[in-house]
Amino acid sequence: TDVPVSNFLRTIIENDLSAGRYQSKKWAGVPGPASVQANAPKDSARIRTRFPPEPNGYLHIGHAKSICLNFGLARDYGGICHLRFDDTNPEKEEQEYVDAIKDTVQWLGFSWTSSDQENLYFASDYFEYMYDFAQALIMGGYAYIDMQSPDEMRANRGTLTSPGTNSPWRDRPTEESLQLFIEMREGKHPNGSMALRAKIDMASPNINMRDPVIYRIRHAEHHRTGNQWPIYPMYTFAHPIEDALETITHSICTLEFEDQRPFYEWVLEKLVALGKLNEPLPRQYEFARLNLNHVVTSKRKLLQLVKENHVNGWDDPRLPTLAGLRRRGYTPESLRLFCERIGVSKSDSRIDYSVLEQALRDNLDPIADRAVAVLDPLKLVITNYPEGQEEDCSAPKNPRNPDQGRRSFPFTRELWIERDDFKEEPPKKYFRLFPGNQVRLKYGYVVRCTGCVKDEQGNITQVHAEYLPDTKSGTPGADSVKVKGNITWVSAKHAQPATFRIYDRLFTNAHPDGQDKDFLAHINPNSMQTVQGWLEPGTQTTPGARWQFERLGYFTVDPDSGETPVINRSVTLRDAWI
Ligand code: ATP
Ligand code: MG
Ligand code: MG
Repeated sequence: TDVPVSNFLRTIIENDLSAGRYQSKKWAGVPGPASVQANAPKDSARIRTRFPPEPNGYLHIGHAKSICLNFGLARDYGGICHLRFDDTNPEKEEQEYVDAIKDTVQWLGFSWTSSDQENLYFASDYFEYMYDFAQALIMGGYAYIDMQSPDEMRANRGTLTSPGTNSPWRDRPTEESLQLFIEMREGKHPNGSMALRAKIDMASPNINMRDPVIYRIRHAEHHRTGNQWPIYPMYTFAHPIEDALETITHSICTLEFEDQRPFYEWVLEKLVALGKLNEPLPRQYEFARLNLNHVVTSKRKLLQLVKENHVNGWDDPRLPTLAGLRRRGYTPESLRLFCERIGVSKSDSRIDYSVLEQALRDNLDPIADRAVAVLDPLKLVITNYPEGQEEDCSAPKNPRNPDQGRRSFPFTRELWIERDDFKEEPPKKYFRLFPGNQVRLKYGYVVRCTGCVKDEQGNITQVHAEYLPDTKSGTPGADSVKVKGNITWVSAKHAQPATFRIYDRLFTNAHPDGQDKDFLAHINPNSMQTVQGWLEPGTQTTPGARWQFERLGYFTVDPDSGETPVINRSVTLRDAWI
């Protein structure tokens, strides 16, 4: 659709813009790093959003919601969206993830480059600023060095119903805290021996305001700053500063951060008061995260699936990672359509996986070329069709769009059909091949089944039929014989071999991510099936090619392809998961 559905964030932005909240000249210029200075908003009437992934894993379908939201709002309101790596947690972050995230955001169809500016940022570029701001808070009497152990701090935090207990170090002299903080930065103290805490209120009803830790000691190597820093800011302290330095206007995050908003505002207000930041300040807004049935999206759990080889890497087509969905055959358009359909709200909900699948079908149906494939082959012999004879049958590439043209493929005496299209003893309402029944071989002739051949174990090895010469599709006699069944086939002599990967849900439980801790117990042992089958001759199998295989679903060529193509089923034609 062309007109975006309105939501509460659009309303907020429209009100902000009409109130002139971001009119030129209100920005006094932020004392940020050179990269930020250079990118200071030239047209400050714009809104700025950001997508701030931590580079500690691959992006998943939940991130797509955040990407579409943040980049989409910037696009729709003439603003800018930053891609910012929130890399303040040295142990878990890697360059590999930075590269994969950039690749994925671009693949989804979004760009962080606006006219002449590349709006790509790293929180680690601001470490010097965060350190300076923390010192300012100490000197202003808003932060202190606490020497309680992490366990003591936790115990003294209190509970939802009882206030916390002040640290014995809470009222130590400012100079002492400053000196210790400088020593922390110099690497003179071991991990966990002390931490910098904001001095707010240990009796606050909001536990997040009970003197949260803002800096901790971590003697760890960072993927960008190496061993330069033995201390790292906490996310809740770093994030508002990152937003302010980048002159973000609308800082959009998921609902879990609602209780953090008072601290987000506290940090910014104190830094304005201390002359470190300028107004107008960014504002935090929360929306409901995407919860999708039958998958896990926690990065910790995804990492575990990958590291313990429950799947084959981050881009395994069974994973809800964007790399996995891409390999499975999801298009950027289908994912954007999905995000548009699920909308944005402030209340938590669950989305069924079928909504994602339907978005792919709706995207591909009007554009994907059709072809025939046989996944579970059984030989059909047309006993009255001369050996060695061939003739072409013609079919539309896409019946929904005649402009895509036509294709043709040969009809011969020996064909591959789906095993399931023959039953020696048909169940009720079975209209396909069984002895005595007539069906149409799609785009070819009507045939009458005459029987089958079995091996010594009783397995059916061939089906026999006779064709009715006047019934070829597209000829004047085609409709002279009425049939209820219509089956697909490929000429055995011409068919191209292919390996098909057929997927099922990775988890048998609809909520593997829920309360149940042992999500691995719900892994479906049959989530991938590999079969050898046949393709319509002339089917181009270059990697990334995609089709609708008639009656079977949408498929795409996997990068694992060698001489024989490996083909993933992206989605069935109809919702097959009940
Ligand atoms: P996880 O909890 O899976 O580790 P995260 O929130 O820690 O995810 P980040 O890399 O910090 O992952 O996420 C970057 C952005 O994506 C954040 O702004 C976050 O709010 C958003 N995001 C993450 N998961 C979802 C989700 N399921 N739905 C919507 N937005 C999400
Ligand atoms: Mg996070
Ligand atoms: Mg996380």
